[in-house]
Amino acid sequence: MAEATPASSTVLFPELAPEPEAPRPLTPEQADKLPHIHRLLLAYYDRPAARELWDPLTQLIYSLLASRTKTPVSHQVMRDLERRFTAGPGHWESVRDATTTELEHAIAIVTFPEQKAPHLKATLMGITARYGSLTLDFLAKYRTDKIRDWLEQFPGVGPNTSAAVVNFSTLRRRALVVDANHLRVIQRLCVVPRADAATTEHRLMRLVPETWDAAMLDEHHSLIKLHAQTLCTFTEPKCQGCPLLKLCPTGQRNTGELPLATPSEAVL
Ligand code: SF4
Repeated sequence: MAEATPASSTVLFPELAPEPEAPRPLTPEQADKLPHIHRLLLAYYDRPAARELWDPLTQLIYSLLASRTKTPVSHQVMRDLERRFTAGPGHWESVRDATTTELEHAIAIVTFPEQKAPHLKATLMGITARYGSLTLDFLAKYRTDKIRDWLEQFPGVGPNTSAAVVNFSTLRRRALVVDANHLRVIQRLCVVPRADAATTEHRLMRLVPETWDAAMLDEHHSLIKLHAQTLCTFTEPKCQGCPLLKLCPTGQRNTGELPLATPSEAVL
């Protein structure tokens, strides 16, 4: 019989598995990376308006509909859905019970309504099937990572949506929403190595000061998003007038101050 290899021993005796490595402590430069960006954006744009906190279910519906859609359009769709289907704030049973075709027509002005309508219906039905009624208020008694795992089992709910539900809603937990806008700015700034949104959120959270609470993380995301929609746009970033130019390898390359970006420009 063949001898057990070290790898199979680890499987048979999990206590032999190596301890996960503790993350290296941040250098002072790394620790100030996000606060520095935050201070510069705050000075340039001023403090964003305070968010109106919705219940978690309303926030989930909004976030499912809002991806890659302009904010005023997403708000208009929420108003349309409430007017057409609900019996008052937080009562979304009639949206759940509508046909997919009815929903697709009702949300026609958002991007990809043909995908979002079935996701929305399946998610609302799934919540009802698992909890017994259509509400997410019960999530308040669970840990943030458990809430996010639970939400991400439903169709169309990825890390970006689950982060929005826990951070923007009345749950008000620590999480950083890394949507397409946020990801673009962070990648151009080379704050962390280029990766997908979920990995980027994980890496950014290592850089977030422990003193930043949920509201501060919301403010940080709002500033980055505003910057993405104002100066650091997808097609034509206005690097010359950007308050982050001194920190930004991409902007310095665009303005001719740097010849090429290199992987070593990432700080973590
Ligand atoms: S310098 Fe240019 S690329 Fe960099 S953050 Fe500013 S607008 Fe975006």
